[in-house]
Amino acid sequence: MPLVPEIATRVADIAAWRQALHAMPEILYDLPDTAAFVAGKLRAFGCDEVVTGLGRTGVVGLIEGRAGDGRTIALRADMDALPITEETGRPYASTRSGMMHACGHDGHMAMLLGAARHLCETRAFRGRVALVFQPAEEGGAGALAMIEDGLMERFGIEAVYGMHNLPGLAVGRIALRPGPIMAATDEFEVTIRGRASHAALPHEGADPILAGAALVQALQQIAARNVDPLDSLVLSVTRFHSGFARNIIPDEAQLSGTVRSLTAASQDLAERRIGAIAHGIASAHGATATVSYKRNYPVTVNDAREAAFCAAVAAEVCGKTEVDAAAPPLMAAEDFSYMLEARPGAFVFLGNGATAGLHNPGYDFDDAAIPFGASYWVRLVERALGP
Ligand SMILES: [Zn+2]
Ligand SMILES: [Zn+2]
Repeated sequence: MPLVPEIATRVADIAAWRQALHAMPEILYDLPDTAAFVAGKLRAFGCDEVVTGLGRTGVVGLIEGRAGDGRTIALRADMDALPITEETGRPYASTRSGMMHACGHDGHMAMLLGAARHLCETRAFRGRVALVFQPAEEGGAGALAMIEDGLMERFGIEAVYGMHNLPGLAVGRIALRPGPIMAATDEFEVTIRGRASHAALPHEGADPILAGAALVQALQQIAARNVDPLDSLVLSVTRFHSGFARNIIPDEAQLSGTVRSLTAASQDLAERRIGAIAHGIASAHGATATVSYKRNYPVTVNDAREAAFCAAVAAEVCGKTEVDAAAPPLMAAEDFSYMLEARPGAFVFLGNGATAGLHNPGYDFDDAAIPFGASYWVRLVERALGP
């Protein structure tokens, strides 16, 4: 029996928790009801320790194995929803206007709670497992806040494991890869300052729109001509603001966009080249440029050995043919990257079937994925901390 039988027969409970969480979404760090729900369940299951308020509003449940000697590993779920108005029409749809669990973090919490209940009852492992429920994955770097608040040291965590549901991947399948699995996402902004003039007398000014148009094109050479063709980088200029009247060449243009990359080297390269190209293009047009570059979440990098271990656990739970251990990376970002920078571990995708995409108002976590995700967590602990 690949699924954990006690998980498979109690899916209805876990789905009920998921739907309760779905109905009461909260945003970023402001999670009073969600954190209380999670902490209440962890205490009711009999966790040896339940810590709240870590990284502002994070929750950690600690379960000791049958034998206390051994390593401590962490399993992580995220708790926050999104500022989106739900359009699923489900009976358990959001009761809070303008907030919605559109990324499936309700499912992530419920599956980890389902695993926690089973692990509290059976404790068929040595050492300890820390169940980490983090705030603010959606842009607030809640994982980093928990790390900075001493998460790893306080519980002696030696390895970390994460999971995200993935629409488009069939329910019952798990996909992962060693190395980079999700991208770093950075933002840049360039202001070009030229000199205003009458549209009929361009020679008396320095046109920032012409310089900006050249810059939009030139920035594409970073992906096309600077980054190793076997590496991946996507740079998109997504905003270009300038001008105010049809017959006046303005004095300023502002451009901004995002850079997504899969290695620290190409991330560094992109930051350097955007600066050099912007200054060079501006100067060639008799203008000047100021450039700001902001790094957001880093690349999510799976440890090769841990990824192989997680693929074996996934194969045990889902069946060998249902695991893709060499999946392509996603160019979106994930703040579990900070945990993987702090400790070795691996992040996997759990199939959510043919649902609407993540962050879509029509998206819903598929409860049919619960037995696979929760069983994966249980078996991972029992294999990693086996007797
Ligand atoms: Zn999301
Ligand atoms: Zn998410």
